[in-house]
Amino acid sequence: MKINSINIRSSNVRTRENRLGSITGYQGDLANLTRQTRCGQVKNRERCFSQSSTCLSSCAISQLTRIMDVAVIYHTPAGCTAVAPGSTVIGEQLAVKVGKKYETVIIGTDMNEIDTIFGGLTSLREIVLKTVETYRPKALFISGSCVSGVIGEDIDGLVTDLKSELDIPVIAVHCEGFKSRIWASGFDIADHAVLQGIVKPPKEKRQVINFKNFYESHRQEITDLFAGFGVKTQFLYTNSSVEDLSHLSESLATVCICGTLGTYLGNGLESLYGVPYIRTLNPMGVIGYEAWLREIGRVINKIYEVESYIERERAIYLPQITALAEQLAGLRAVIGMGPGYTYEVARVLQELGIEVAWAAAWHYDYKHDNGQPPPAMDFLDKHAANNFPLSVADQQNFEVMNILNTQQPDLYFSRHPGSTVWAVKQGIASVYVADEYMIFGYKGMLSFAKTILDTVRNRSFEKNLAAHTRMPYTDWWYRQNNDALLEKE
Ligand code: SF4
Repeated sequence: MKINSINIRSSNVRTRENRLGSITGYQGDLANLTRQTRCGQVKNRERCFSQSSTCLSSCAISQLTRIMDVAVIYHTPAGCTAVAPGSTVIGEQLAVKVGKKYETVIIGTDMNEIDTIFGGLTSLREIVLKTVETYRPKALFISGSCVSGVIGEDIDGLVTDLKSELDIPVIAVHCEGFKSRIWASGFDIADHAVLQGIVKPPKEKRQVINFKNFYESHRQEITDLFAGFGVKTQFLYTNSSVEDLSHLSESLATVCICGTLGTYLGNGLESLYGVPYIRTLNPMGVIGYEAWLREIGRVINKIYEVESYIERERAIYLPQITALAEQLAGLRAVIGMGPGYTYEVARVLQELGIEVAWAAAWHYDYKHDNGQPPPAMDFLDKHAANNFPLSVADQQNFEVMNILNTQQPDLYFSRHPGSTVWAVKQGIASVYVADEYMIFGYKGMLSFAKTILDTVRNRSFEKNLAAHTRMPYTDWWYRQNNDALLEKE
């Protein structure tokens, strides 16, 4: 498939806003948004007030630092490198879990006022050479930031020079935070750097599936699942090495746990090297998992094996899931998550008979890099049990609080702790869908249904917390409609 939005010859990645028409401001409902999507009329509505959100560079750098044997030089003032300790600690902990040694380092260049006037390329160059001499990384990423971008540091020029001096891949990473309001653009920037500087053209075909996820909590289960279909798994990027990544073009297919996370790498590998990218629902809930498995089976030519697996697992889990769904039917829920999960969880909740009272997504990609709408949205367009109110906001928590206060749902589902805790303080029972595998497959669906039941049966925690918490939001704010903050359509 020809993917026009990926240009590997440039070190710059077009942001999601201008590559995929992504938005961070919308209020309406499912039917309206899917109609606008079909007609290509999705338009961002600016806010007259915003609270702070997340920087895309933290996404890009956290992705790159999952690789086990690289150095990331972050050309930036010290404040931006606040992401560094978290990234390396996670990398170390996840490596220990699989008995590997994590050797990646992040070095901040600590730009100061003098650098912003006279430029910091000379010291950046010295830092790069010292880093290579000290840590001997297998590849080196030089990342920009808002400050280096604003003063026009020529990182590309430095990278060109260093490539002829160093015997490892040196790659420019343009993740200036001001480029995009959508932090998922950082996933694309990291993928672009890997595609541009690490992945090599194929020499052979290997019985391997590239599998992109975040924290690998189900690494063994995924390994066993794919082994049952006769293929090995190359996990990305956690616990992968530069050598592993250099072979991604030789794999049978690329699969991801979340379409928002995987769209750039998957489409890039397909368009550059012909590695098929599995574009389907996320493997969440029964419908998503089966669609995902069947598409993998079709692409790697293991249809019979996949169907046998589905039949076996259905017999074990479906009766239990159905019994729990009967107890959950009729509950009302609000969802607040990234787009890779909001529309997927909406489908899963409807599978369990739970009414989606409102779905808030932190952004909306009205198409992915193949030019098609996200599969989860396409599914809801065709099969949703009912139309429901929907908004897009880059984690504007004050809007979520307003929605929760108006809707008074039985449950709030979020994937971000900063959002979940405020809902609990407001007295709303909440489920924090932190682990990307929390609703994975039949087993995940069963335990998710049990978690929901536990959450609604005992509401003492949120009741007590709400009774002892003074919220910063006034009655005046709760009477407002979020829509009034958005520019007119
Ligand atoms: S938005 Fe800019 S200044 Fe802020 S953390 Fe990101 S790169 Fe640094």
